[in-house]
Amino acid sequence: MSSKHVRIGRIAGIPISLDYSWFLIFFLLTWSLGASYFPSQYPGWAAWEYWVIGGLATVLLFASVLLHELGHAAAARHYRIPVREITLFIFGGVAQIQEEPKSAWSEFWIAIAGPIVSLALGVLFYVLALAAGAVSQLYATFSYLGYINLALFAFNLIPGFPLDGGRVLRAMLWGMSKDTSQATIIAANVGRFIAYGFIALGLIMMLQDNFLDGVWMAFIGWFLESAAVAQVQQQKLRDILKRYRVAQAMNTRLTLLPADTPLDVLVHEHLLGSGKRAYVVQRDGVPLGMVTIHQIKKAPKDAWDTTTASDVMIPMQEARAISPGEDLWTALSAMDREGVNQLLVVDHGRIVGMISREDLVSFLQMIHEMGV
Ligand SMILES: [Zn+2]
Repeated sequence: MSSKHVRIGRIAGIPISLDYSWFLIFFLLTWSLGASYFPSQYPGWAAWEYWVIGGLATVLLFASVLLHELGHAAAARHYRIPVREITLFIFGGVAQIQEEPKSAWSEFWIAIAGPIVSLALGVLFYVLALAAGAVSQLYATFSYLGYINLALFAFNLIPGFPLDGGRVLRAMLWGMSKDTSQATIIAANVGRFIAYGFIALGLIMMLQDNFLDGVWMAFIGWFLESAAVAQVQQQKLRDILKRYRVAQAMNTRLTLLPADTPLDVLVHEHLLGSGKRAYVVQRDGVPLGMVTIHQIKKAPKDAWDTTTASDVMIPMQEARAISPGEDLWTALSAMDREGVNQLLVVDHGRIVGMISREDLVSFLQMIHEMGV
């Protein structure tokens, strides 16, 4: 997901944001409902009524998508998995679940929770439409939302990763075979197969007189295909990284800096000289903290001669650490979760090295080249 989004608020502590692409789909959908769908289904209203109902239906549709994502988020929380953010974008919504579910059951419930919300909303909107009575603006809005939520329910249950149905499939394969890696790759490949189906259907629609819907269908197929491929690659990376320990890839040649080293000396003599991006700050042989490029950049440049390493360092108790016996996937996940580029490697309270994203990349290159 791109970082080009705007925060609109929080629900139950979870940040909600809109990707820039969302504004495009919001406009297109309001336009297609107001100028085409409602006028053809319910002739005889004033033009402004179509636009108001089109806008209202679009807002309620995205509220429905948001509730679908909140369904996933609530289930994730139930299994004590934090949710980083919910983003609405051109193809709907995504709840960023921070960790992989720990069991096939939790994966199953987190995946199915969203479609269950859509199904419930679909039924609710149809009941509201019946209650609104004969052909009226409210009936039109509610029955459209009833239809669209049932469509979301059905679409998301298509059993190809990364759709919810693909996650359900993955959870079932995982539960049966106890092999997460194989389950992911099968579910993702089913997802690719289905994605090609969407693209083919889109092309057929384009050749017939349904060009715009065909383009949209093919576009969804392309999105699903690339997401499924990314999932396979991530799984392969994960399988490789899980085979190796932090101790094998970490950097043990630490540069220990005296606490009173001024930042200009640190930059010119160490950073630019060695290219190392992170340093341990010490006094009398006792490590006090860690300095990375990130902390140096936060200090104003004209104060580099009077600011010392210990002024800007992350104190030892706040520095992110990992034990040398952990696997590399755990290390990478920890960096992602904490939003840092390196971790201190600490063994029984003693710093034995550091591991960074660059270390992981060069380690991966090495094992690739050596074919081990
Ligand atoms: Zn979902």
